[in-house]
Amino acid sequence: MNDCLFCKIIKGEIPCSKIYENEFVFAFKDIDPQAPFHAIIVPKEHISSADEINADNSHLIGKIFEAVAVIAKQENLNNGYRVVNNCGKDGGQTVGHIHFHLLARRNLAWPPG
Ligand code: AMP
Ligand code: ZN
Repeated sequence: MNDCLFCKIIKGEIPCSKIYENEFVFAFKDIDPQAPFHAIIVPKEHISSADEINADNSHLIGKIFEAVAVIAKQENLNNGYRVVNNCGKDGGQTVGHIHFHLLARRNLAWPPG
């Protein structure tokens, strides 16, 4: 995926504030944070959206949530957090590489707007 913003961030072609990386997953600070702590967590393999999860790649979503637990401990998110995936136009997805927002350090409203 030559033209994918998050693939370029993963490859180091676009700078980011990295907070975590392993063989499967990459995480960095959101450039426009919606909470005092706001990270973006992505699989290194390009998957366009939640709509493209299938039996061949769904193990990577498990890797995302393993990373969430590691990052929460690393960043001392002791009061809890929210994990959000936006999918498609109505879901508010603006970058076509599946990603999970990890939001914390404020009381997050529910239901979301
Ligand atoms: P979404 O609207 O769910 O597709 O989320 C995309 C997120 O990526 C938004 O929260 C943006 O602020 C964030 N974003 C866009 N470009 C960058 C970038 N270069 N570095 C970090 N985060 C970014
Ligand atoms: Zn990509």
